[in-house]
Amino acid sequence: SAGLYIVATPIGNLGDITLRAVDVLKRCDGVACEDTRVTGKLLKHLGISKPLWRYNDHSEDNDRQRLIASMRDRAVVLVSDAGTPLISDPGYRLVRDAREQGIEITSLPGACAVVTGLTLSGLPNDRFLFAGFLPNKDKARGDVLAELAPVDTTLVFYETGPRLLKSLDAIAAVLPGREVSVARELTKLHEECRTGSPDELSAHYSQHPPKGEIVLMVSPPAKQKANAEDADAMLAEALKDMKAS
Ligand code: SAM
Repeated sequence: SAGLYIVATPIGNLGDITLRAVDVLKRCDGVACEDTRVTGKLLKHLGISKPLWRYNDHSEDNDRQRLIASMRDRAVVLVSDAGTPLISDPGYRLVRDAREQGIEITSLPGACAVVTGLTLSGLPNDRFLFAGFLPNKDKARGDVLAELAPVDTTLVFYETGPRLLKSLDAIAAVLPGREVSVARELTKLHEECRTGSPDELSAHYSQHPPKGEIVLMVSPPAKQKANAEDADAMLAEALKDMKAS
């Protein structure tokens, strides 16, 4: 039926698309996508042929409003090049405006690099903070890491091969003593996940320049030792009192 369907697509392995996603893609009236060539390839692989409309968050307001108006009587799918739309990908403005205008919206879950990386890393994932891409400039990158230093959760970033070494160096400098995990080429032929200190990983990746797409994760800050020591001291004090009485 008419409305907006947010559909997750694979992040590498083309098998990672849900039955429901394929069904919605087959039935829809058209697909709004970042790059018509990328989405065209996926649809071709699935044996589906649909009108493709280029859309991103920089699209003109007029184009967005026209797309939203069409959702009143057409089923429009939103996909990004890979993974879950809106997660470091376009779509936020489209969903916000469509919601304001009372369009039916539904989201079909599927592949997402943040979640896939976290599950492989071995780092605690009961709480995590996803912070998107680190800035490119040294000063800004250091500032963001300093801002995140007190956050008591695993930190997750999207990263690219050419920038990984700089990020590892910045983490070593600004967040000393943390464990880091690098998940690369997830779901693809050369998938790998390495966990260690930033220095160990930096040494490895200087020898083996990392290619492809990366999820970079940083362990939470170590628990404050002082608290445990305080508790021990209080306990000893209490025991002393008990013996005395
Ligand atoms: N929306 C996507 C998702 O749900 O994961 C993310 C889009 S973002 C523009 C692209 C970034 O996601 C890459 O630079 C990389 O950090 C991460 N990524 C995407 N696919 C990946 C993969 N197969 N392995 C590791 N990281 C990946």
